[in-house]
Amino acid sequence: MSSPSSVDENIKDIIKIIVLKNAIQYGGKARNEIVISKTIAQRPDLRNNLKILIPEIKVSVEKINSLTLNEQKVLFAHIAPQQHIPDKKIRDRGMTLPALPDAEMGNVMTRFPPEPNGYPHLGHAKAAIIDEEYARRYNGKLILRFDDTNPLNEKSEYYDAIKEGLEWLGIEPDIVKNTSDDIQLLCDYGRKLVEIGGAYVCTCSQPVMRDLRSKGIPCDCRLDTTRAGDLLRKFFDGSFEPNAAVLRFKGNMADQNTAMRDPTLFRIIEGHHPKLGNTNRVWPTYDFAAPLEDSLDGVTHALRTKEYELRNPLYFAILERLSLRKPVMLEFSRLEFEGMPVSKRKIKPLIENGLVKGWDDPRLPTLAAIKRRGFLPEAIRKFVLSLGLTLSETKPPFEALEAFNRKIVDPQSIRLFFVKDPVQLQVRNGDFTKQVTLNNHPNINLGHRKIRVSNCFYIAGDDAASIRVGDEIRLMELYNIRIADVKFQHISQINGSYSASCDTSSLIIAEQTGDYLKHDMPKIQWVAVEDASPYSIMIPRALYVEENYNTNSLETCEGFAESYVSALKQGTIIQFVRFGFCRIDGDNTSIFTHR
Ligand code: ATP
Ligand code: MG
Repeated sequence: MSSPSSVDENIKDIIKIIVLKNAIQYGGKARNEIVISKTIAQRPDLRNNLKILIPEIKVSVEKINSLTLNEQKVLFAHIAPQQHIPDKKIRDRGMTLPALPDAEMGNVMTRFPPEPNGYPHLGHAKAAIIDEEYARRYNGKLILRFDDTNPLNEKSEYYDAIKEGLEWLGIEPDIVKNTSDDIQLLCDYGRKLVEIGGAYVCTCSQPVMRDLRSKGIPCDCRLDTTRAGDLLRKFFDGSFEPNAAVLRFKGNMADQNTAMRDPTLFRIIEGHHPKLGNTNRVWPTYDFAAPLEDSLDGVTHALRTKEYELRNPLYFAILERLSLRKPVMLEFSRLEFEGMPVSKRKIKPLIENGLVKGWDDPRLPTLAAIKRRGFLPEAIRKFVLSLGLTLSETKPPFEALEAFNRKIVDPQSIRLFFVKDPVQLQVRNGDFTKQVTLNNHPNINLGHRKIRVSNCFYIAGDDAASIRVGDEIRLMELYNIRIADVKFQHISQINGSYSASCDTSSLIIAEQTGDYLKHDMPKIQWVAVEDASPYSIMIPRALYVEENYNTNSLETCEGFAESYVSALKQGTIIQFVRFGFCRIDGDNTSIFTHR
């Protein structure tokens, strides 16, 4: 068969479709190797033409990878309208989630209702991923509803942070709305509830209300109906001062479930609201807004964490009184980790008290922090789905999330050398100048790098500490050495950074003994003195040990890394050999992800 000298349009189209499919399946990034093998699988006759095929594929991959995932989807739908993409996410979708009761294909509506009172965290990821998985599994819709009914807590910054977090997780809600959009409607329903005898305005003081609730006794406001009309008008006029009156559900003051003892449905709150400004003073509580919004928005399946269990009867009682449609309610356990507060309410004081440095402090479980640490959204989704819909209170180990992440980052991350607490090593008979080429990954082609080395190296302090005269060790990917003399001393720090000169007074002296690879020989990483960049790595640890704040929760390791690391973009995930995966955080700093 004759070989064409250039790639014809038909083949270009085949390549383009393969690249797009691969990119869309893997979050927007196609990979050359995969596209090459798929192209050949589809057109074995092109095998003899790799020389012109591969550059063509590379160009196509580069072009398509520069588009956003959405642009890729649009382009794919345009050029291959008949083709279906077997989305990896979709194939795994809901594998561990049980079927929804009373769910009809095409008629499921779920919602994720965060309060914009802080940054989203892994607990929100759990809730949102479950909500989304179900919506997609049943070909239904997902609503993102900001539950913004307390002007004292909500901030524009938090709406944005939540949106950004979901976007990063790859969650695309079909509808985005705010509970505050419906404030008039909710007030109308509140008024109606009083008119039909299902609620009343209560002017008791907070302590009196608390006392009577604990005793299970109704107050005069509930019993005296003569003033009801007046109070109702005054309440929704906004004429009451904060705390002077609340609107309460007429539940059962003697109910065993205290959530049913006439809970508050509306209160007066003064404050600037990010969406409504100062126009509104009468605000529904979560207890009223949640069932009303779910019902009115068409939510068929409302999922929430188990801590609300006692409030379920209230949720349904309110809808019953107002003759509104009732969604199916499902529960799952709240996600918690040992030593890590997975709650905005607990994180906020840590920030305010300066115990962490902000919402993206790497010790926190916020999505901003988890991203900054080098976790990928696919790993979070896999982790959440592995937990399923359990109600059990056991905390999953954080290592489970790390394991999912490791599996994803391992084949994508280039390997580099970093030496912590460096000690100098001089190879007496080593080459004075030599260029070595190191592979960026042991078994996947992620390119290579060239390093200039002399006979002076840095090795890690703990490796140096365990070295004895006479030991034979291998400098990884270089050659073997035998230790001749140990004058063990750490490199002194000068003005917070390391001196990069090869100081012969404090070092380990060795001799090169060949470069045959022996399996039982200890292998250590190194950084060539000529190629050393001062480098620091932040290692986040548990914020709490038992109940106490861990003052050593953020360790910083100092040392030298290969200068190659300086050329990598912020956000790149790498593996420092024998140290662990890290994500580049800034100039000469990265954050430890996991081993
Ligand atoms: P926080 O303490 O973080 O303010 P919250 O439950 O008040 O917690 P919301 O913003 O009201 O936070 O929660 C929105 C949704 O996310 C709710 O459905 C809630 O059940 C769920 N959610 C919040 N935290 C967790 C968690 N740790 N694990 C699982 N789901 C959670
Ligand atoms: Mg809440």
